[in-house]
Amino acid sequence: MSAPILRNLADLRAATRPWRRAGETIGVVPTMGALHDGHLSLVAAAKKTCERVIVTIFVNPRQFGSPEDLASYPRTETSDAAKLARFGVDAIYVPDGAEMYPEGFSTTVSVVGLTDVMDGIHRPGHFEGVATVVAKLFAQTSATDAFFGEKDFQQLQVVRRMARDLDIPITVHGCPTIREIDGLAMSSRNLLLSDRARTIAPVLPEQMQILADAVAEGRDFAAAQTVAIRTLEQAGFTGIDYLEMRANGDLSLLTAPTRPARLFAAAWLAGVRLIDNIAVEG
Ligand code: AMP
Repeated sequence: MSAPILRNLADLRAATRPWRRAGETIGVVPTMGALHDGHLSLVAAAKKTCERVIVTIFVNPRQFGSPEDLASYPRTETSDAAKLARFGVDAIYVPDGAEMYPEGFSTTVSVVGLTDVMDGIHRPGHFEGVATVVAKLFAQTSATDAFFGEKDFQQLQVVRRMARDLDIPITVHGCPTIREIDGLAMSSRNLLLSDRARTIAPVLPEQMQILADAVAEGRDFAAAQTVAIRTLEQAGFTGIDYLEMRANGDLSLLTAPTRPARLFAAAWLAGVRLIDNIAVEG
């Protein structure tokens, strides 16, 4: 059964009021649409955990660095709604920019520390945009549980920190990255890759796995990192924003997996920025 599409906060509050009154658990899955199996795995996790599930679709202008990137972001609402119908979600919340940021909107949520590295540096203002909209979505949906992908691991940690620091009574669940058969992490941005770039893209997770294995075997990180970067450039990647090993919890930089660690990468391929991260076995 297709879920109602709610476009404003008043309708969302009206829909959730009886659920809240009945004390039901409410799961929220925040997305920017162009849904793929990665998003749908979060929806499945929410359905398993919660009595009610709300999927939000909002291409949040505040988390984009450039107007071109925002304009080119894929928007596929009709097929998104059809995909969600199979999961029996209770509501799809699709506010527009004016609903989310009405005239005079003046508040920004900023998480320091976790945002001083990686995408916090390479995408100035990005995590302020994310933290602000996610704080609003938590308040708007009054969800008891929220579901985020490890695909955006830094974002997951930022959201966890924000919810904890602001005493928002919500459990943030991190869900594993879903990949294409060739290893490429599913992403709405993959739709922007040319056919040729799409064949090159899996070199990123491939090289990350080789690097993770090398480090797990005790090999020197810097040397293995240099080889991986050179291989990516030879394959056609035009810029590597970062390829780093960091601690899971506080994202501090590591040169050996002395604590639970992950490899993080962001790399440009034919004008599209791909990000990925994988666990390093200690
Ligand atoms: P987005 O629409 O890109 O903002 O993503 C919405 C949510 O889906 C975020 O929590 C992402 O981390 C998650 N997500 C995106 N791609 C994947 C994936 N391949 N596997 C698991 N979760 C994902």
